[in-house]
Parts: sequence; C-alpha cells; structure tokens
Amino acid sequence: MKRYKRYILYIGICLGLFVSPFGTNCAKAKDFVVVIDAGHGGHDPGAVGQISKEKDINLKVTQKLGRQIRQNCPDVKVVYTRNRDVFIPLNRRAEIANNAKADLFISIHTNSVANGRSVKGASTWTLGLAKSEANLEVAKRENSVILYEDDYKTRYAGFNPNSAESYIIFEFMQDKYMEESVHLASLVQKQFKNTCKRTDRGVHQAGFLVLKASAMPSILVELGFISNPEEERYLNSEAGSTSLANGIFRAFLAYKQEQEMKQNGRNGTSLSEAQPAPKETAKVSPSALPQERIAGEVIFKVQILASSRPLAKNDKQLKGIKAEYYREGGLYKYVCGASADYDQVSRTRKKLSNKFKDAFIVAFKNGKKTDVKAAIEEFNKNRLANQQE
Ligand SMILES: [Zn+2]
Repeated sequence: MKRYKRYILYIGICLGLFVSPFGTNCAKAKDFVVVIDAGHGGHDPGAVGQISKEKDINLKVTQKLGRQIRQNCPDVKVVYTRNRDVFIPLNRRAEIANNAKADLFISIHTNSVANGRSVKGASTWTLGLAKSEANLEVAKRENSVILYEDDYKTRYAGFNPNSAESYIIFEFMQDKYMEESVHLASLVQKQFKNTCKRTDRGVHQAGFLVLKASAMPSILVELGFISNPEEERYLNSEAGSTSLANGIFRAFLAYKQEQEMKQNGRNGTSLSEAQPAPKETAKVSPSALPQERIAGEVIFKVQILASSRPLAKNDKQLKGIKAEYYREGGLYKYVCGASADYDQVSRTRKKLSNKFKDAFIVAFKNGKKTDVKAAIEEFNKNRLANQQE
C-alpha cells in the first residue's frame, strides 16, 4: 500500500512539473552556463586593506551574484571556481570555465593602489593590450597571483607577471569574444554608475592571464578600491556587496536577453501562445483585451520590461503598474496601456517614462506582434483618411 501511495505521489510530482511553467524550465537541461570566479583565496589574500582582504570581498559578491542568478534564471547553470576560502591556481580557474563549456566568465576582484587613499570607483576589464601604464599595473597585480604557485614558470611558459616584456603576448593575440566581452563590460559599468552610484572608472583592456585562458566572452570586474578607507567600508557592508552583486546581475540579465533575442529573432510570437501564468503572477487574459477581437485591427501597447521568469503582480520590478505579458524569445515581456489609438499609447508611454525610462511601444495585429513602424504608418494614414471624410 505504502509503495502504491508513493507511486501516486511520484506521478503527481511529475505531472506538477510538467504543467508548471517553472517545471518546464526545471525539466529541461540548463541552456546557459555562467562561471563566476571569486578572485584569490586561501593563502593568497589579494589586495589587503585596513579592515579586510580582497579575497573575502570577492567571494561575498560572487555568492550574492550567484544566488540572484539561481533564483531568477532557472535556465542558467551557475558554476563557481571557488565557493569558500581556498586557493585555486589561475589556470585552473579558466579550466573550470572551459570544462563547463561556459557561455560567460565573470571574474570578481577588488582594486588597490599604493599611496592613493582618495582613488576610488569601479571598473570592468576585458582581455587586450593595456593602453596605459596604469592599466598595465592592474594586470600585473592581478597576474602576480601565479607567484603563489610553485611551478608557475613552467605552467605559464616563462611568463613573468612583473615584467612589461612578458605582456607582448597580448599584442598579437586574436580574441574572437572581444566584442561580446566589451559589451557586457559596458553593461556592468552602466549599472555600477546608474544603480549602484559608484564612481565610473570605465571599461578597459589589459593582459589578464585568467581571461586569456578562458574560451568564451569574459570580463574581470574591479568592484572598488580597498586602499580607499571609505570605499573599503562600503565594500565590506551588506548594502554595498548586495548593491554591487545586483548591479552585475542586472547587466548579466540584459546581456543574456540580448543574446537570446539575437538567436530567436524579434518577431512572430503570438499573444495566444502565452503560457498560463502561475497563480500568483500577473495574468494575461485574452478577454482583458476586447479590442483585439476586431480582426485586423492594430493594437499598440507600451512594453515596460522583460523578464526571464513570470513576475508576481506585486513584484517590485513592475513598480505598481498593472501589466500583462506576452512571451517571446524565452522571455516574459510586460506590456500595458493597450489601445488602438497610437496617440493615446504614446501619451501612456510618456507618463510611464519616469518609472520605466526605456519603455517603448509595440504593436499587435490579430493577437500577433507586428512591425511597429508599419503599424504607426497605417495608423497615420487612417487618421488622415478619416479627417478628409
Ligand atoms: Zn584581485
């Protein structure tokens, strides 16, 4: 009997997984792998400040970022190069990413300068040739971790992290992931500046060994300066590490969504294809859109955001706006203010722009997304025709 009950329970769970929109994500293999690399660890403290060590700041932000991704992106596999205070050789970190066939490699570090207590701010780096002495210094400091490894001379083919000549290998290097890496880096900096309110030190290139060995788009983030007492306090505060992790997370999400759009194309997803929302999420119901029942009529809507998962009605991201979603490219795209009157939707977009500054107008015809430019032209043509009547 017991066995029978367990069997029923098992079937129930399977069915539950099968019908739930989350379940479909759980059941399917993770299709995006991100490796998050907390710099330094173990007997390598990284840069040392007055009250803390770089390795601990890096790990904290790494774990918070990983948690955000795991909670919000069920289709993403998160791999850590280290999830505790342990020493990992530099080339092992890249190897972990390569073995995991990662789509993205994010290395997290904290900056430091000698005799520069007032120097502050966040920067993001990609692989390349350093354009300045200061940039080269950052790479030298980060690459010097290999000196903690006994056999670094053989392992890194005679590379001397402190000699400028060694960096000539970065001069003739081809990096086919450069464009994507630089793009992600700029998304991260945008977040650091706009939402984390950090001093923006920009996107730079330098010869980082760990980025050279990883065969995928890769960035190295310098969260801030541990050598600046004020910034060190911020980096060690819960609010600080959370804000920085969330900033990187938002950049990651934007990057991933763009990649998906590139792969899936922008058009052709039907509203009627929208999967049923889980109970507690904002619901799209075709009956809530009576205008769309008129065959051939174009309906304009304001798209306010896209999410990799359905959002609860009271989700903070919706900022109190009642929105419905349609699905496209694996994303839940939230729209509101549906109307056949483009001018009205245009006004709605304007009103919403203080809450959603990137809001834009999309158009639907017979429940399917349609080219918005053509739809606006058609609207204007009809308006002119009506005025002439
Ligand atoms: Zn570092």
